[in-house]
Amino acid sequence: MYDYLIVGAGFYGAVCAHELHKAGKSVLVVDKRSHIGGNAYTERTDGINVHKYGAHIFHTNDKMVWDYVNQFATFNRYTNSPVANYHGEMYSLPFNMYTFNRMWGVITPDEARERIDEQKREYIEQAAAKKGVPVSEFEPENLEEQAISLVGTDIYEKLIKDYTMKQWGRPCTELPAFIIRRLPVRLTYDNNYFNALFQGIPTGGYTQIFENLLEGIEVRLSTDYLDPANRASLNEIAEKVIYTGPIDAFYGYELGTLEYRSVRFDTEKLDKPNFQGNAVVNYTDADTPFTRIIEHKWFEFGLDEAGREIPVTIISREYSHKWEPGEESYYPVNDEKNSALYAKYREKADSDTKVHIGGRLGEYRYYDMDTVISRALEYCQEVLK
Ligand code: UDP
Repeated sequence: MYDYLIVGAGFYGAVCAHELHKAGKSVLVVDKRSHIGGNAYTERTDGINVHKYGAHIFHTNDKMVWDYVNQFATFNRYTNSPVANYHGEMYSLPFNMYTFNRMWGVITPDEARERIDEQKREYIEQAAAKKGVPVSEFEPENLEEQAISLVGTDIYEKLIKDYTMKQWGRPCTELPAFIIRRLPVRLTYDNNYFNALFQGIPTGGYTQIFENLLEGIEVRLSTDYLDPANRASLNEIAEKVIYTGPIDAFYGYELGTLEYRSVRFDTEKLDKPNFQGNAVVNYTDADTPFTRIIEHKWFEFGLDEAGREIPVTIISREYSHKWEPGEESYYPVNDEKNSALYAKYREKADSDTKVHIGGRLGEYRYYDMDTVISRALEYCQEVLK
């Protein structure tokens, strides 16, 4: 009999497993995939650590979480600075003085501010009139209103509107404002995509973090907990279950299906050392069917483990689409309808004394890795009290 069965070997599951094992609990981890690491899993090919489930750039403001992950890998100095390609016009991201200079030719922060305010004012006057509220009381209620309030209409039209439509499959007017608030807007010449104090990529990839977290712990791969052939017997061999998969799948979708966006990666090896000159290039126009291209080697400055330059490169085109049952769930769609359905599932989960449901999919939240880790640590602290 195990003290804990942990379903899922991603960050939430692996951190829980590590902490509980360290505290003397017996732990069994199962994962339906043939590898550990969840979506953060990386696989080394031709000396390049390929982010198999999309780019993972570690960033956090939480010193405790930063110190925690640094026990399991050495992080490099990578700073995410994606560029946007809009019909061949290249713009720096996040929205900063380089972006404003390219868009409008402005040079000083005052000039940029003036441009943004002018476009914002015009938009808000019309939007407020439509809603029948005074301009002073206008509050952005969706992604379009929020984006234009932050950066004006030109940037919205070229860099946000169509990219977001491709990513989420619905117009910005039907998406929550918080999605765009993930991105900093700066009146400085600073291309750092994140505002985080700590940032980097584990040298040698992410998989080692999970190998280290799970050292000494029994892990069964290619084992699907939700498969009726496994579920009852797995439940029987543990006192408690920590489940980190989609919460609606846990309950057999009995209250309805939560919506997700899924992503398909079209990965290709090219016989040249440099394809796009940057790890991440976003395609922000409507005509290009993919949202971005990742060139994996640049997360580690184009060098292999021995510090040698790599003569080839590996790229992944990223296509976003509506999730269908059986596919990998990536992004929760946190609109009102889905949030209300999630709340019902959460109520069921919270009344279960044997099973705890947590993590990005278990909590149906657009979490970054650092938040997942701190949620897992908080949970373990609570149960080990
Ligand atoms: N976004 C955009 N244009 C870009 C990059 C991002 O409009 O070039 C918007 C888009 O709505 C996206 C959101 O900002 O969903 C958050 O972007 P982020 O890069 O944080 O998404 P992630 O890397 O988590 O997929």
